Order: sequence, then C-alpha cells, then structure tokens
Amino acid sequence: MQAARILVDGQSDLVLDYGIPPEAGDVKPGCRVQVPLRNRTATGTVLTLSEPDPAWKDKLKPILKLIDPEPLISPVMMNLASWAADYYSVALDQMIRCLLPETVRQENTAEKMRKMVHLEKRPSREELDALYRKAPRQAQMLDYFSSAEQAEAPLAEFGTGALSIARNLEAKGFISLKEESVHRDPSSGEQFVPSQPMKLNGQQQKALEEITVMCTAEHKKPVLLQGVTGSGKTEVYLQAVSQMVKSGKSALIMVPEISLTPQTVQRFKSRFAELPSSVAVLHSLLSDGERFDEWHAIRSGKARIVIGPRSAVFAPLQNLGLVIVDEEHDASYKQESSPRYHGRDLAVLRAHLEDCAVVLGSATPSLESTHNALTGKYSLVKLTERADGQQLPLIRILDMKTEGRNKSGPNVISERLRMSIDRRLDKGEQVILLLNRRGFARSIQCPDCGHVVTCLHCSLPLTYHRTEDRLMCHLCGFKALPPRTCPECRSANILLQGYGTQKVEEILRRTFPAARITRVDADVARRKNAVRTILNQFRAHKIDILLGTQMIAKGLDFPNVTLVGVLNADLGLHIPDPRAGERTFQLLTQVAGRAGRGDLSGEVIIQTFTPQSPSLQYARHHDTDGFAAQELEMRRSFDLPPFTHIAVLTIRSQHENMAEFATRTLAARLRGMLPPPATMTDPMPAPIPRAHGQFRFQITVKGPSARILSRTLRKLVQEAGLGDDLTAVIDVDAMSFM
Ligand code: ADP
Ligand code: ZN
Ligand code: ZN
Repeated sequence: MQAARILVDGQSDLVLDYGIPPEAGDVKPGCRVQVPLRNRTATGTVLTLSEPDPAWKDKLKPILKLIDPEPLISPVMMNLASWAADYYSVALDQMIRCLLPETVRQENTAEKMRKMVHLEKRPSREELDALYRKAPRQAQMLDYFSSAEQAEAPLAEFGTGALSIARNLEAKGFISLKEESVHRDPSSGEQFVPSQPMKLNGQQQKALEEITVMCTAEHKKPVLLQGVTGSGKTEVYLQAVSQMVKSGKSALIMVPEISLTPQTVQRFKSRFAELPSSVAVLHSLLSDGERFDEWHAIRSGKARIVIGPRSAVFAPLQNLGLVIVDEEHDASYKQESSPRYHGRDLAVLRAHLEDCAVVLGSATPSLESTHNALTGKYSLVKLTERADGQQLPLIRILDMKTEGRNKSGPNVISERLRMSIDRRLDKGEQVILLLNRRGFARSIQCPDCGHVVTCLHCSLPLTYHRTEDRLMCHLCGFKALPPRTCPECRSANILLQGYGTQKVEEILRRTFPAARITRVDADVARRKNAVRTILNQFRAHKIDILLGTQMIAKGLDFPNVTLVGVLNADLGLHIPDPRAGERTFQLLTQVAGRAGRGDLSGEVIIQTFTPQSPSLQYARHHDTDGFAAQELEMRRSFDLPPFTHIAVLTIRSQHENMAEFATRTLAARLRGMLPPPATMTDPMPAPIPRAHGQFRFQITVKGPSARILSRTLRKLVQEAGLGDDLTAVIDVDAMSFM
C-alpha cells in the first residue's frame, strides 16, 4: 500500500500520513480526500505520495475516499508549490494553503444558497381580502406580487418569520419556495461603461506584436515592457488580454495593491463589460463568501480574466495564456510574512510551467528585471513617449541645507514649497504631498550638511543601535562608534531624525488653514474602502491637499493635480537596504508621472538634504536607463543583487539573551556548512532590534545560488532543533532588512 501525506482541514496545522487502499481510486497530489481523524471523518488535500516507512506500514490508517476524481490543484500548480516551498524554505502545506484558501478548503462556506418565493397562482381580489382578515401577513406577502414586476422575490425581503408564512402559502398552492445560489460579487452595485480599444501608436503596436509572438513562440521569453508613465502600457495589456480571451484562453493580471490601483481595475472591467462575469477581482478585503465564489468562478472557467495582488499568482485559472505583472518593480509583490515568496518571480515561473507568455511592465523596472533584459534572458520593449501627448513635468530639487527654515519644530515645508502650494491653491488646483517613509529610519544624517554615515565596505547607511551605542552595517557586519560631530562639516547637530505623517498633517493644517487636507497612510488603509473613498473625494475636488506615504504614488491619475511635493526624499535613501536608492528613484519617477496628467502642466518639488544623490538627479532628468546603468555598476562592484542573492535568518524570542545565544550558536555552525563562495555576517541585532515584544537577531548570507543559501539555512535550523521560546525565520531574496 502506498502512503499519502495529507494536509487535514481544520484550525490547526495537521499534516498526517495515510495509506492508500486500492479501492480509493487514482489518488494524486492535489486531490481532495476524506480521512479518518480520531473518531470522526475529516477532509484534506493530498500533498505528496511516497512508499511508506516499513516500520509504520501496518499502522497507517487508510484514506476513506477520494472526493473528486480530478485533483482540485492542477499538476502545474502542485509543481509551482513544491518549487516555492523548496526555494523559500517553507513546508509544502504552507504553499498549499496559499493555493487553496481556507474558505475553499473548509466546505462550510460552500456555495451560498438563498430561498426565493415564486408566485404560482395570483389570488383573486376576494381571496386576498379574505386572507387579509384571517392571516394578514400571508396576504401581505401575496400582495407584494400585485405590484411587483417579477413573479419571484428573495424570502429575506419579507422579514422575520417569513419562512412559516411562505410554507402556509405554499400549502395553499399560491407560491412555491425555491433555492437559488447567489454569486457574491464584490463589485456588485458598480456600473462599468464599456470602452473601445484605442488605435495603438507605433511603439504600442510593436509591444503588442512582441507579446503576441511570445504567446505562440516555441522558446518563450518574458517580455519586459519598459514604458514611461502615461505611455499607454495599460492599453497594450488590454488589447493583449482581449486577443487571449478571444482565442479561448485565460489571462492573469497582477497589480501591486488593489485598493491603490482602482483605475486599472476599472479599465479592465470597462473594456470587458460585455462579458460581466468574466473579470474576477481578488484582494485581501474580500469576505470569505466572496472569495469562495470568485475562486470557483475562476476554476470553472466562468471568470477568465483575473486581476489581483501577489496572491493572485495562485489563482486556479485553467488554460492560462498570458500573465501580466504591472508595476513589476513594486516591493509589495514580496510577501513579508511566511511564506515569504515574491509574486513577480512566481508569476514568471508559473508562466514557464504553463508554457504561456508573461509581460512585466513598469516605468522603472527593478534592477533584477533590467539585468535579465540586458543579458538577453528577457525580451525588452520600450515605450518612450507619452500616449496622451502630455509633457513630462518639470522637476525641481530643493536643497534643505540652504532653504529657509521655520523657527519652530522640524523643518517640514520650505518657504519655496509653501509659496508654490499657495499659488496652486489660489488657482483652484490640487496638490499631492508625499512623505517618504519606510520602516523606521535609524540612520544618522547631519542636518547641516546632509552627510550620511555609511559603511566603508557596502556603502549602505549604518544603523544606530542604542543599547550597544554602535553603528552597524546589516549587510557585512561592520561596526563603528557613532560620531559626536559630523565627519564632513564638524557640526555638533548630527542627530537622529524622523517624523510621522500625523505630525506633518498638524503642521500643514497650521500652515494652510483654509485648505481641505486629508491624510492617507497605512493606518487609514487598514479600514475597508477608506482609501477608495478618500481618492474619490480627491477626484471630486472635495480635498485640496492629499498627504500620504509612498503608497499613494501608485497608479493614481488626477487631472487637476498640478503640484506634487516630496517632503523628505532622504528618509527612504538612508536606510540599511541595498535597494534604497532604486526605490527612491522609482518613487520619484512614479510621483513625477502623477503631476499634470490633464490639460494643466505639472510641477514636482523635491526637498532633500542630498541633492547630488544619483537617485534624485536621474529622476529629475527622467533618465531610467542612466540610473539603471550606474546603479548596476555600483551593485556589481559591491556584489549586491542582482549579481548575488541575499538571505536573512532572523531568530526571535521574548528573552533577549536566549535569542542572542541561539543566533551565536547557529552562526558558529553555519560557518562550517556554507559552501564557498557564499559569505555570512556575524550575528547582529536586527535593525529594528525589538518588535511585538520579541528580541530579534540576524545573520545575513550572500551567494550566487539562492537555493543553496535556502537549503543550507533550512538544514541549519532543522538540525539545531530550536526550543519553543525561539522562532527562526528564513527570508530568501530578502527585500526588507528590518
Ligand atoms: P500607462 O499605463 O503607461 O501609465 P495608460 O495606458 O494609462 O499609460 O495611458 C495614458 C493615457 O493615454 C490614458 O489616458 C490613455 O487613455 C491614453 N492612451 C493610451 N494609448 C493611447 C493611444 N494609442 N492613443 C491615444 N491615447 C492613448
Ligand atoms: Zn555635517
Ligand atoms: Zn557593510
């Protein structure tokens, strides 16, 4: 008898082995099965098949039965899950949980049925009058249909106790009760005006042709579509998807975050409005019921176009023809909790496994993708002109070391920015202000000359650790004493800085008392529909100044916004992250694309202490290729991604000394295990050394093969057998080092 490893449905993480009796049929990975669990029957999903351990052979309980003959998870998706489990060092069942959301595995959210009252026989006037005297509520229910257009209505419309009333009427032959399944459509109530395809310009046409070629090519390459903001990438996606759907296949469109990219979703819904049920939108705010229905609509082929964030890469599309990853550089494609997969990278892998085309689109591609394009692994197509004929906005960089300062508090808004905002408000135009803020900046920057204390070996900003009173490099482990005066200008003002959006909002309200100001940040975004509501108000010009973190820079399109101010371009630059410069460049370029999208010309003002920084200078000249060239050169010389892979092992515990001791022990063992040329740091406190009541220590490893790093760390952690008080987290291709 063969054995099967089963992920048993339920609240806790149960993975158990069962035997496969011959009468169970063709049990394959991805199949749903019934199994005995203690004294009850449970359902589960087959993870893997194996020869049972001889010692256990006779003790294995057999599978009771196969639920569906076909696996619920396709072989391709099982493959993708196994690959990801190995690459990101997580258990296979964790990946399967991503593929089959809990609501799909727990059969209790099964299809939602509702009872409908169906009119069978219209009562005569006399019958109705008689009924009103004897049983008024029965009469009311029947009377409802006298004026209703349809002969059918949901039972729920008739209030409490309606069921027994309806049963009585059913007995009298007036009505019948029926069950109807309802599709819980998350966008019900929204109207989409059908849109027509536009006539593509020459560059767009070439891009579409390249995608079309890749759809049928024998050796398919991912297409990197590098197009400036407003160059018409979305129009190209729409037409490519349309071709796919016409040829009977399905398409997956990935976007950074649904609530922040409402326009993209709307454009897809509008273009495919004739087939209303064919576009499924997946996002984290769906209710269980909505998620269940969307999942089954996709799997059954009812919905053949799927739009969603990183988790949409696991959508059960059949006969997939095209995958699009919009804003492919966006950091939100990396999941920052376990499993720590990268949605874009899995999208490329899925397309490869499904043998379908994949397009990565961005105005500012990630350096990983740019590198792949330069080395010929990807096919590169560029859109260099704006499709709407708009000019790119003028970008001005203000050096905050010399700009006029406010007397009190932190210098948030320079005099020149304040005057520009006033001018725009006077003309009835709108302003977006951006606070660049990632995690907590613990780097040290001189407020007088802008000097940032960086690592001699990696050029990364050093992070200040209060407890040790040391500066540390989180990539190579270099340590230094914090300077008491600025090494550059000798100023004694060198200090830690950073201020939050709420503080800035306060200052703005004082500075522009007549303006309507609204703030959007992570706190606001946690409320369902809050961001959408605010953006709609902004569009309707009920808000003059929108203040937000980098999250509002994504995919917004507001014709009346003529000024975008970046309050502190530096905060994002000086964090211990090898991609800090890249992210800042991308952010500024994206922001610049937001100003002046309508008939009004736009202006961008960037406040900074380091005006000479390449990220700012290349962004100012709209020079994506120039930035990529110089940044790649820097990454190559410091041996940083994309020329190498980085994995971070974090050990967490409530007890500081336990975490530190365990990390030291692991580091000592790891030295003997890590195959050259891979390298590792000494154990260090994490840049945020304590979070959620846990102390965090890290080891960073670097090497040419991510899988070797991942497998080595996994083996290390498994063999160490950490106690209950310690948690080990492996982050492969880490994007955040906090
Ligand atoms: P991107 O996705 O690259 O930012 P969009 O697809 O949003 O660009 O296009 C920017 C604007 O240009 C939109 O208003 C769009 O309707 C318009 N547009 C796109 N393609 C064309 C075209 N071929 N002809 C005219 N206008 C176009
Ligand atoms: Zn200085
Ligand atoms: Zn270093």
